[in-house]
Amino acid sequence: MLTAETATDWLHRFAEKINENKAYLSELDSAIGDGDHGSNMARGVAAMEEKLAAGGFATVQDVLKTAAMALLGKVGGASGPLYGSALIAMAKQAGENEQDVAAIVKAGLEGIQKRGKAEKGEKTMVDVWMPACEALASGSLTKEVIQSAVEATKEMKATKGRASYLGERSIGHLDPGAVSSSYLFEALLEGGIL
Ligand code: ADP
Ligand code: MG
Ligand code: MG
Repeated sequence: MLTAETATDWLHRFAEKINENKAYLSELDSAIGDGDHGSNMARGVAAMEEKLAAGGFATVQDVLKTAAMALLGKVGGASGPLYGSALIAMAKQAGENEQDVAAIVKAGLEGIQKRGKAEKGEKTMVDVWMPACEALASGSLTKEVIQSAVEATKEMKATKGRASYLGERSIGHLDPGAVSSSYLFEALLEGGIL
């Protein structure tokens, strides 16, 4: 169940995975972008952890809003506003007492798409958020679902974001934002919220 406490735990797990994979995320971004996705995200989750450490959050909405503000203020790059928009939309959906994770994540996806205008298959984080969202709605989110969504970005040609400058040459590489997003959903699975 999603509560202020389990939502905080979810985000801690996400931060941990970002930190563990900081170099890997930047390496992925070096291949098709500017090599900063790991450091961008690590900077953001450090700010998020600092805010969350204060504790005393009454609602899921408070937790998500606090995380959103930290990420928006610190991540920078394309991914900062996108993760920020996701979390703000999720906070809004959570309202005072919403605990339906599928509905909350769906709102997050809508926030990302409203901000970044990416559709399915454009080799962005949307390519992980969308299948994760669908699987959550049918109660079938697994590590395999998340992993195959990430893998599928390899063969896509980027048509949004910095990687789109490479055109055909973006093919054959994983999308860094898809990989960082996979950590959010793995953290959700491991957090025992579902
Ligand atoms: P920057 O490209 O500004 O250096 P990052 O490296 O932190 O920012 O983030 C790059 C990631 O952002 C990409 O891998 C992709 O997943 C995501 N991204 C970029 N543009 C969009 C978009 N329009 N919609 C969704 N995700 C996007
Ligand atoms: Mg980058
Ligand atoms: Mg950059």
